[in-house]
Amino acid sequence: MTQSPRFRYEGLTRWWKGNLHVHSTRSDGGKTPAELAVLYAGEGYDFIVLADHWVAGAPDDLPRPSPLAVLDGVELDGDDSTGANFHVVCIGCRGPFDRAMGLEAAMTEARRQGAVLVLAHPLWTGNSAEDALRHGFDGVEAWNNVAVWLNGKGSGAFHWDRMLDRSPSAIGPAVDDAHITIEHPLWNGGWIHVDASVPTPAVLLAAIRAGRFVSSRGPVIRFLAARGREVTVSCSPVRFIRLVGPSHHGRRLAALDGPSLTEGVFTVPDDWAHARIEIEDESGRRAWTNALFA
Ligand SMILES: [Zn+2]
Ligand SMILES: [Zn+2]
Repeated sequence: MTQSPRFRYEGLTRWWKGNLHVHSTRSDGGKTPAELAVLYAGEGYDFIVLADHWVAGAPDDLPRPSPLAVLDGVELDGDDSTGANFHVVCIGCRGPFDRAMGLEAAMTEARRQGAVLVLAHPLWTGNSAEDALRHGFDGVEAWNNVAVWLNGKGSGAFHWDRMLDRSPSAIGPAVDDAHITIEHPLWNGGWIHVDASVPTPAVLLAAIRAGRFVSSRGPVIRFLAARGREVTVSCSPVRFIRLVGPSHHGRRLAALDGPSLTEGVFTVPDDWAHARIEIEDESGRRAWTNALFA
């Protein structure tokens, strides 16, 4: 086992709802940053990351006070030196970036500015597992809502599993990749809840980097706690609560005929290199943690 025994969700203070991948009229989105702030705040969001294509940094013309926090971000895309294509959301950088820089130089600059680098929609792009392990990505979008809309290829679960095998610190958020145009109208289909003391950009970014968040497409993970390797989760009513380990390893609680589940307790085996909790409601919508110990 390569991981340290540190439980990732210690210090749980409050969950802040956010979306890590939103496009505005500054690239190919249909809403201005100010309109997005109002829309997302209306659905209970505390923050969004503006991840416009090659346009970095939150704009200065947001309404004051802004109805939610807007984090700096950018979506870079292009081929690397092997010819593989990537889309990469960089959270917490202001650029400037220019396509002429090329993908790898731009990623280096984003990292120099302290950004968290998340491989975007790898199934939609056509990335291999080897692609996901290249370039030292901090994580991968485990769910991309607009890629599901486009051709059903919104899952990053396979790529995330390979990244977790290498390091349990790899994060696996659900994101909207919202454009909110006639062609791509969907939003509020995948989000995260961040465990942080206050919803300020710097505190949120540190918590995202540390993987102190859960992802959801509907059901709500309310509480997580650990005593040693025994982990307790409480949640909105669901049909399944799973402990998801490496390769074929797993445990599960199921409400097949009886009342819904709202709590689960699992002991994570010492020889599992990574483990996360996943819940699934009656509609098949899921929510999940990052690796519990990292
Ligand atoms: Zn993209
Ligand atoms: Zn995008």
